[in-house]
Amino acid sequence: MFGRMPKKSDNTKYYDVLGVSKSASQDELKRAYRKAAIKNHPDKGGDPEKFKELSQAYEVLSDPEKRDLYDQYGEDALKEGMGGGGGGHNPFDIFESFFGGGGSPFGGGSGRGSRRQRRGEDVVHPLKVSLEELYNGTSKKLSLSRNIICSKCKGKGSKSGASSRCAGCQGSGVKVSVRQLGPGMIQQMQHVCPDCKGSGETIVEKDRCGQCKGQKVVQDKKLLEVHVEKGMAHGQKITFQGEADEAPDTITGDIVFVLQLKEHPKFKRKGDDLFVEHSLSLTEALCGFQFPLTHLDGRQLLIKSTPGEIIKPGQFKAINDEGMPHYQRPFMKGRLYLHFSVDVPESGSLSLEQIKALEEVLPPRPTNQLTDMELDECEETTLHDVNIDEEMRRKQTHAQEAYEEDEESSGPRTQCAQQ
Ligand SMILES: [Zn+2]
Ligand SMILES: [Zn+2]
Repeated sequence: MFGRMPKKSDNTKYYDVLGVSKSASQDELKRAYRKAAIKNHPDKGGDPEKFKELSQAYEVLSDPEKRDLYDQYGEDALKEGMGGGGGGHNPFDIFESFFGGGGSPFGGGSGRGSRRQRRGEDVVHPLKVSLEELYNGTSKKLSLSRNIICSKCKGKGSKSGASSRCAGCQGSGVKVSVRQLGPGMIQQMQHVCPDCKGSGETIVEKDRCGQCKGQKVVQDKKLLEVHVEKGMAHGQKITFQGEADEAPDTITGDIVFVLQLKEHPKFKRKGDDLFVEHSLSLTEALCGFQFPLTHLDGRQLLIKSTPGEIIKPGQFKAINDEGMPHYQRPFMKGRLYLHFSVDVPESGSLSLEQIKALEEVLPPRPTNQLTDMELDECEETTLHDVNIDEEMRRKQTHAQEAYEEDEESSGPRTQCAQQ
């Protein structure tokens, strides 16, 4: 019965690692581990080896049976006792179970769900839409390829369902490299283990699943129908929950489409309102106008002025309920604003009769008419045609050159100091 009892050996190391006494209660152990684990977590720049030691110590001491064995016979007894199936424990597992399953420290994503369940990445696609599509609503069929759990091995990656601890990282999923930066200066770098891609386990070549080659996932094409609803906005997101890449032990992330509005040649949108620029001839501005406007749903709107009304350059007019449909209340609509500019005829000339006729209908000139005596005291001038932009540009470059010349020839300036 006592044939092969290990000799009594070092059985205080685990307590030392956690910094507690041999009589520590479960609560004390828990607190000590928690504190040390936070401090040494590789995610926070801690030493993965130290972290593993901590986890191992806690794993043993937190289990009354194992603790008992360790207290009596030391580490060796556990190795024999635990050997085989119970072995490959990932130190992160314990840490995660402690803090309510925060997802793998290298997996990214927020902690949803239980132990070992990390959250997969969301996949974000921009989706270009026209203003017509946002006005009328539309649906678009899109084919996307994504990873799904291999159906043959159910995501195990192996035929037998077995996997073993990765030799490259001892199952931690991380590798640490040390670089000497200078005397006494060492930089530690962590990378996701390239052998197991961070999973901490490997599958022997001949046991690999034939369908996924041990990858656990396979590529799949998925057809998604994206419903763009009336009144949706640029930048709005349409989410397909849990349709992103699948991975073992992972809550599948979402596919998110973000609407990107293409610019419209005629209509501009601001919130639920639409804006259209329209230029009127001087005659239309003064004497009235009517014109058809093709709306975003193809209807022809007749836009016309109130008889006798004059439109000023830059004036706005609005048509109620011809703006954008409200999102989720499409029967409600914003306003359609028309912004008018007025084209004055290109420099032409009017005959005296035409001028007389116009003067009769247009408002009278301002009443600052000069008397003959005042006229006598004025000097005659001539108005020339100019291309003002061109002339200003020429003058500016000229001034610039003159300034630069001046800078060069002026030499040391002493005038100011003398004054
Ligand atoms: Zn498979
Ligand atoms: Zn590995």
